[in-house]
Amino acid sequence: MIRPILTDGHPLLRKVAPPVNLLEIPGPMIQGLLRDMMETMHAAHGIGLAAPQIGSPLRLVVMGNVKADGGARGFPARVLINPVLLSQTTTILQTNREGCLSVPGWCGDVARPLGLEVQYLDEKGATQRVKMNGLEAACLLHEADHLDGILFIDKLEGEKIAQPRLVARPEFERPEGQ
Ligand SMILES: [Zn+2]
Repeated sequence: MIRPILTDGHPLLRKVAPPVNLLEIPGPMIQGLLRDMMETMHAAHGIGLAAPQIGSPLRLVVMGNVKADGGARGFPARVLINPVLLSQTTTILQTNREGCLSVPGWCGDVARPLGLEVQYLDEKGATQRVKMNGLEAACLLHEADHLDGILFIDKLEGEKIAQPRLVARPEFERPEGQ
């Protein structure tokens, strides 16, 4: 089921979300929520969505940029439950023009680590460890921020103000020329 996406100003977007109980992962509540998140992300043409964005304060993230398959910026669809950053590049950064389904119509440049390793539980409750780079890493960090009540507009580079977007676009935009 496609769910409404909360927008900036809603108090749930500013709360730290609690972790999901491992025993609840196979149950209908979490499995249904994960299905709704994927469906809502795809319907909104996003590449990432965190559960608090649809009003469910839990540490759940869905991601995927499968339309860019074959391109350097494509990455597989993935469900991440209780993601924990194991490491990230601290000196090597990337800057992407970010947008957010919860901040419709706005985008801005955000510097983030270029690479990271994350540990999480998948939709079956199995522990996974994955290394991510580039847009996938930036997307994970953007979504993990949502779990801690942080929005990309808190982290803007340069003029420190978001710029209006002319048209609705995916959660992240491609940099100029790519
Ligand atoms: Zn977002």
